[in-house]
Amino acid sequence: QTGDARAARIPRYVRVNTTLWTTEEAIQFYESRGFFISGPFESSKGFARDEHIPDLLLFSPQCQFHDDPSYKTGKIILQDKASCFPAIVLSPPTGDDSVVIDATAAPGNKTSHLSMLMCNKGKLFAFERDRKRFSTLTMMLTKANCGNVEPVNIDFLAVKPTDPKYSATTHILLDPSCSGSGIVNRLDHLLETEDENDADQEERLTKLSNFQLTMICHAMKFPSVTKIVYSTCSIHAMENEHVVCEALKSNESRAGGFRLAPLQDILPTWPRRGLADEMDNPDDASSLVRCSPDLDATNGFFVACFIRNIGPCNLDV
Ligand code: SAM
Repeated sequence: QTGDARAARIPRYVRVNTTLWTTEEAIQFYESRGFFISGPFESSKGFARDEHIPDLLLFSPQCQFHDDPSYKTGKIILQDKASCFPAIVLSPPTGDDSVVIDATAAPGNKTSHLSMLMCNKGKLFAFERDRKRFSTLTMMLTKANCGNVEPVNIDFLAVKPTDPKYSATTHILLDPSCSGSGIVNRLDHLLETEDENDADQEERLTKLSNFQLTMICHAMKFPSVTKIVYSTCSIHAMENEHVVCEALKSNESRAGGFRLAPLQDILPTWPRRGLADEMDNPDDASSLVRCSPDLDATNGFFVACFIRNIGPCNLDV
């Protein structure tokens, strides 16, 4: 099946930005424009609420929203369902003194989702090291009215976990650069590349997975952090299960007392879990979430959640 055919089976996902309006208001708005609640595939004008993600609507794959006033004013974010999982799993705190980090933020879909889940309160630091992507991020955050976000054009690895500005951080979202192999319309190209250059592909994945592991270990050094969500849009175990296993074995994880969040805390009703064969401890696979581009009407995606129950600890950073 071609990437285009796969993409044609993925609904147009519309996440309602509840900082600017409610999902009920959004539904009324789309009904006033001729849409009606049904299944997204029953008719080009049908739409539905998603069964797993609150405030996510599904429209027909052919629907375009780029010229729609709801999109132009930041009231909706066009975001694949699987890409909504990390912020939901992180479940950030909503108090005025909350401190949360989105370590790799641009273009800002997950940052705006986190900001909305924090009810636009507390402080959300959004780090992005690439200058051009940082400017896209700031535009997106302004459009979505994310008043509690402080975007910072910095490399996350250069941020000192004990810096008083960041040391109170309790929740970190980590969605680092990856191969992007789960993105459906890139799949055909990727398969070709894999066939032609297996060695290059292996080398690229090794570099990426080393970088991803370094990012998780750095997040684990923040003294007050209790929850870290790691995600990729990759289908490769090397960037997913293998990175998680290495992270659990790392000095940072052992010193900090991190473990994987149990199944009931990570989308328990989502059926597709991690690949048990790729884990050191196969039982841990149920603590991981996967999305299959062939089977789930989403892009390929992966989510893991590291937690610790103890209070701030004194790591040597
Ligand atoms: N979370 C974003 C969203 O949902 O819109 C997508 C993030 S994208 C997969 C990864 C981003 O991380 C890229 O913009 C990349 O430039 C940035 N990045 C990679 N390494 C970084 C680092 N060490 N520090 C900060 N940002 C980094």
